[in-house]
Formats: sequence, C-alpha cells, structure tokens
Amino acid sequence: MNIIITGGAGFIGSALVRFLIQDTQHRVLNIDKLTYASNLDSVACIAENPRYSFVQGDICDGELLASTFSRFKPDAVMHLAAESHVDKSIHASSEFIQTNIVGTYQLLEVSRCYWNGLSEQEKTSFRFHHISTDEVYGELGGTGKFSETSSYRPSSPYSASKASSDHLVNAWYRTYSLPIVMTNCSNNYGSYQFPEKLIPLTILNALKGKCLPVYGKGEQVRDWLYVDDHVKALYLVLTKGVCGETYNIGGSAEKRNIDVVCSICELLDELVDEKPEGIQHYRDLIEFVEDRPGHDFRYAIDAEKITNTLGWKPEESFDSGLRKTVEWFIKHQEYSRNNKGEVS
Ligand code: NAD
Repeated sequence: MNIIITGGAGFIGSALVRFLIQDTQHRVLNIDKLTYASNLDSVACIAENPRYSFVQGDICDGELLASTFSRFKPDAVMHLAAESHVDKSIHASSEFIQTNIVGTYQLLEVSRCYWNGLSEQEKTSFRFHHISTDEVYGELGGTGKFSETSSYRPSSPYSASKASSDHLVNAWYRTYSLPIVMTNCSNNYGSYQFPEKLIPLTILNALKGKCLPVYGKGEQVRDWLYVDDHVKALYLVLTKGVCGETYNIGGSAEKRNIDVVCSICELLDELVDEKPEGIQHYRDLIEFVEDRPGHDFRYAIDAEKITNTLGWKPEESFDSGLRKTVEWFIKHQEYSRNNKGEVS
C-alpha cells in the first residue's frame, strides 16, 4: 500500500512510521507541519529508506493536500496530526480548533475528492483511519469503563476538538460513504514523547534535579498503553478492521498519577548511579501543585472489541514498558535539547 501518515514527526506518528518502514513493505508519505511537538530525529533511522518520503506542510492547506494526494496516490490515510496537549488547549485553544477540527475537515474533503476519482475496486479497499482519544468520552467515577458505545462528554478544549473531529469523520462515512475506520486510545507513553506530558516530563525533570509537579493530590487515574502496542493495534485496524467501525484501544493498566510518578522515581533510584547534588531519593523532588481546571478524574478503556474481533492485546505490561521508557530517556537526554519546545 501507499499510506499517507499525518503527524508522522510526532510521538505516536513517528512510532507508526518506523513500524511501517521497518516491519512491512508499504510505502509511507509523512505530512507534518513540524510544530514545537515534532522531532525529525524520531524518524531519522528510516529517513533514507526509498519507501519513505516527507512533506513539511499543514493539514489545513487543502491545495498542498490535494497535490500530495494526486502525486502519491494513497491507498490509505492514517490521520494523527493534532495539537495534543490538554494544558496548552486550556491556555491557547485556537490552534486546537484549527488543526484538530478545520484540519481534519480539509483532510476529509481532499480524501473524498480523491476517492471519488478511484476505480470501484480501489474505492472499496481505500481506508481513512482517524486516530483519536478516550478523552472524548469525558470522565469516569471510581468504577466502569469506556466502550465504543459510551456517550461523548469531552471536558477540555483538546478533547472537545478531538470529539468534533470524530463526529466529522463519522459524518463523512454516513453521508458520503467515505470508507473510514476510527480508533480511540488511552494514554500512551514510550520513547520520543514530547516532555510536556507526565511521564517524559517527570523523567527528564528528575534527571536534572528539578521539581516533579503533580496536579492536586495525584489521584487522577489513567489507563496506560506502551506506544508500540498502540501502533500494532492501529495497523491491525487499518488492515483488518471493518469499514465504518470504531475500536477502543487500552492497556488495561489503570494507575493513579502519583503512583506513576513514584514508579518512575523508584526506577531512577535503581538505574542512575550519579544522582543530582543533594538528592538521595528521586521522590523527594515531588511537588503537589494546583489542580488543572476541569481535570477528568478517571479514564479506563474496555478493549474487548478489538481483542475479540481482531485478536489484539498489549505485549508490554506497565512495569516492562515503563522500565524500557525510563532506560530510553536516560540514554537520550539530549532528546529534550533537540526538541523545539522547552522542558517546563
Ligand atoms: P504529538 O503532539 O506528539 O504529535 C503531533 C504531530 O502533529 C506533531 O509532529 C506536529 O508537528 C503535527 N502537527 C500538528 N499540527 C499539524 C498541522 N496543522 N498539520 C500537520 N501536522 C501537524 O501527538 P501524539 O501524542 O503523537 O498524538 C498523535 C495523535 O494520537 C493525536 O491525534 C492524538 O489526539 C492521538 N492520541 C494521543 C494519545 C497520547 O497519549 N499521546 C492517546 C490517544 C490518542
């Protein structure tokens, strides 16, 4: 297949690009605007491969998308490009509306136009895969899990913009029969994640002896998934998923934020020989800070559908995935310096 990936210089997109080039024979064209959250180092290991190409561009630019589609002739589009940080969406929501909603609309329209010009056989096999989040479902109390039939109740500007994009994608299926599949996934972690998110921020701040901020009392619960397990699920849904269907993806690894931070501290205590001056135990760096407004209490995913129908389940446990991640960041501390953003 010829596969267009949007956002392939980001955290999950780059893991997907590396997987497609290293573990399959497909050709990949990566369209990415290269915002502060991107890092081309994350695709450097496959950048010279003849099956890989890169276009720097904005998914809101319909003309650029149309010319790229007519040149590359995709069999599938996997749409990951997004503004993805909840805190940033609270302080500056405009880019979230542009990229996540208007950008998805542009990509759908260009895809529909291109798809209309395909032969009947090509039309049937074409896929538009929209990659989304469990945050569209809002928050859970102490019990229960989100399933594919849960109601949409997004809380933050980020999750509301992703919910909007999900509705657009479903509408393009219902109204125009554009062959879509959709996935809603829980919190990811792993190598190359931008250090504004909890796990890489905690690891890199700790290594520098900086404080480890934890919102409120750290009691919010997230369901964690190792990024390479997510990528394998995405590929399975693209190639085997039923057209028009949504699949929830989760790691069955519910953890309170404070427990995630403490686990990272314990791993660092074990793995780092030379601690920053004055630090005996990394957990001494933990600082509880004012809670995020509208902070969802708990997310948990019921992944039975993708497990029962497509045979997917995560290969990494939270402990094994977190160990790999901490080891990776210890070895790649220059990563935070190569990024365009600041480690806060
Ligand atoms: P990320 O912020 O690391 O990467 C996003 C990428 O999109 C960046 O490379 C950025 O340059 C690019 N981009 C942003 N705006 C663009 C635009 N207008 N045009 C082209 N490219 C643009 O995000 P991520 O964590 O890799 O998330 C990828 C997708 O997966 C997002 O759609 C996100 O909503 C979804 N998702 C993420 C998680 C998670 O835990 N990270 C969980 C579930 C779903």
